[in-house]
Amino acid sequence: MLDICLLGTGGMQPLPYRWLTSMMARCDGSNLLIDCGEGTQTAARRAGVNLMKMDAVCLTHYHGDHIFGLPGLLQTLGCQGRTRPLALYGPKGLGEVWAALRVLTGPLPYPVYAEVLDAPAALCEKFGGWPQGAKLTPVPTRHRVVSQGYRLDLPRAGRFSPEQARALGVPVKQWKTLQHGESITLDGGRVIQPEAVLGPARQGLSFVFSGDTAPCPVLTFCSATPPMLCRSRPRRPNSTATAPSGRAQLSPPKRARSGSGSSTIRP
Ligand SMILES: [Zn+2]
Repeated sequence: MLDICLLGTGGMQPLPYRWLTSMMARCDGSNLLIDCGEGTQTAARRAGVNLMKMDAVCLTHYHGDHIFGLPGLLQTLGCQGRTRPLALYGPKGLGEVWAALRVLTGPLPYPVYAEVLDAPAALCEKFGGWPQGAKLTPVPTRHRVVSQGYRLDLPRAGRFSPEQARALGVPVKQWKTLQHGESITLDGGRVIQPEAVLGPARQGLSFVFSGDTAPCPVLTFCSATPPMLCRSRPRRPNSTATAPSGRAQLSPPKRARSGSGSSTIRP
């Protein structure tokens, strides 16, 4: 199951009912946060999202309305007792940004590994818990500064057969391992391969998130096949509207509503 929670979709300034850009992607207990605008912690609390569980924060670019929530969030995680490492991904320039953020956060009780992500990353190799084949790919976008979006690809194994698992004597607590495509060994030493309880592989799930961007061919191409695209747009500098013009655009619209909210894609 892939659960997408749009914590904030606003631009430039947070509004009482519209927080700045941030999105949480959850898959079977593994989490990624993309962008962290001011107010992300409050938005997460209202949405019931536990930010302690995230493996990584992925930044689309370094304008303040996409990152000003990060120093406070990193401090909160430390206060809540996090010791597990946290990955910080972003486009070129991340080293300078992280150096500045570190001055603001002070010492943290957990390591933060800042890495410019310029190639696809196998999530299951970097973090435990992600399904085999889960991949995070940076997607170049077009903004006034260096920027990138992210495409998340999740493979989907064949449909799991509880009846077959029971017939083979597989304990329920080991079902998830087989569902993730890994073999198990029963108490008696018998090895059960995932193929024994899974049907034919199904089409995977993909999600593309873009921060501020003008239309660009790469993003269009990467969004051509996924079931969902989310894109935020900055407010026009000469706009006098009181509500931000930036809106999340989700495609197809029946999958999710615009604005803060969540959408679940079930296998
Ligand atoms: Zn921007």
